Amino acid sequence: MWKKLFNKTQKSIKENKAIVINEMAINYIHIQKTKKNISLKIDQQGLIISTPFHTPQSYIEVIIKKKLSWILEHLKKINTDSQLITSIPVLGKNFKVIYQCSNNTIDFKNEIIQLVNKENHKKIITMLLKESAQKYFNERLEFYQTKINEHPNHITLSNAKTKWGSCSSSKNIKLSWRLIHAKPEIIDYVLCHELAHLKHMNHSILFWKEVESIFPEYKTFKKELKDHSLSYFILD
Ligand SMILES: [Zn+2]
Repeated sequence: MWKKLFNKTQKSIKENKAIVINEMAINYIHIQKTKKNISLKIDQQGLIISTPFHTPQSYIEVIIKKKLSWILEHLKKINTDSQLITSIPVLGKNFKVIYQCSNNTIDFKNEIIQLVNKENHKKIITMLLKESAQKYFNERLEFYQTKINEHPNHITLSNAKTKWGSCSSSKNIKLSWRLIHAKPEIIDYVLCHELAHLKHMNHSILFWKEVESIFPEYKTFKKELKDHSLSYFILD
């Protein structure tokens, strides 16, 4: 009853969400309001889905999947580059993106991404983040390698949106560059997880003991990664 009364006085709730379909992330704005039907529209903000309050997430996902070709076709028509990025998470902090700078660079100290101009800005930001990711992951891996006393053969970056890391039997570690959006502890968890696979190629009790031995607070950040992963799909 209280819930009902609460909803009557509540006008609407607006949230940014994302769904992954075939390795592709579809970002959308979910608006919940007092209405009876569900509606989809696409404008300069992207895909907007309005639903009654308490519509199950699974039902919204079914609708997106059903209307997928319509959605993709209309999203393509919108020039996404006209939506200028003004801030972006890097290592869990909101970095400002500023334009008309003398070169393209990331200033970690002041939490700023500096770009020369707006042209291809998403591509340039992606490139800068990939460079930073490679450097940062290597540094952190070196730190944990000494603790675990194992060394990967190669470390490469992937573009994956659902698989943050992997470790092959030939001791090659692959990491999604998108992890650079996450806070340092989450990145450390993924790195320690993959390093522990150098000793145990499974998720056995021994494996998790190994993770815990080099990163004791891993459980908290394992959960956080699961809860926040959809917010790491900012760039295509
Ligand atoms: Zn694993």
